[in-house]
Amino acid sequence: MSSLLQSPETAAIAENLLRVRTRIAEAALRAGRRPEDVTLVAVSKTKPVEAVQAALAAGQTVFGENRVQEAAGKFPQLRAAHAFSLHIIGGLQTNKARDAVRLGDVIETLDRPKLAEAIAAAIAKEGRTPTLLVEVNTGAEPQKSGVARDDADGFINDCKGRFGTALAGLMCVPPAGEDPAPHFTWLADRAARHGLAVVSMGMSADFETAIACGATWVRVGSAIFGSR
Ligand SMILES: *Cc1c(COP(=O)(O)O)cnc(C)c1O
Repeated sequence: MSSLLQSPETAAIAENLLRVRTRIAEAALRAGRRPEDVTLVAVSKTKPVEAVQAALAAGQTVFGENRVQEAAGKFPQLRAAHAFSLHIIGGLQTNKARDAVRLGDVIETLDRPKLAEAIAAAIAKEGRTPTLLVEVNTGAEPQKSGVARDDADGFINDCKGRFGTALAGLMCVPPAGEDPAPHFTWLADRAARHGLAVVSMGMSADFETAIACGATWVRVGSAIFGSR
């Protein structure tokens, strides 16, 4: 019988997912966009594998993790029984590139030539090419990963040359405590200028604003899995 019972945590995650999906759909419609054009990336960092399983049971198939090491501890064991895609969304050291390429279906944090080199080498060794996004440090924050705004065009063009259509879009995390809308608008505009379809922006606190500004992927953690 116990397999038929839901723990309170499982039920809460299912309810939160429903609520977030509804808010995404409403934000898309308000912006004159189609709800299905916005993909929800459920960010499960710091949460146990049981939380991921609860989200999978509720129909969620796209997940995000900050740390490659943590992703390696949770996700490979789920592949046999579930179809999902895993996004690496945290700043990446070059010595983690190979693990990221092996584990991730998407790497959202390509932000410098050395890392592009390491990812290209890893792709050649692993025989597997994740979808790639260039992360832009739109707020010029020294502690954050991401290419500087001024260097973005050159780096994006380099990555197009190196990775071709695997380079799918742009990603940003605006400074906390600042109006994110100008950052979101800048990123969406830059993606459009480069003919890149994916714009990954917006977290629990601001995903509706991001959708209004053109986000095609939103990365939501605490609104689904609870505070960390
Ligand atoms: C943690 C994290 C998120 C999700 O943040 P929440 O505020 O919990 O929704 C999204 N993107 C990145 C890069 C993160 O590190």
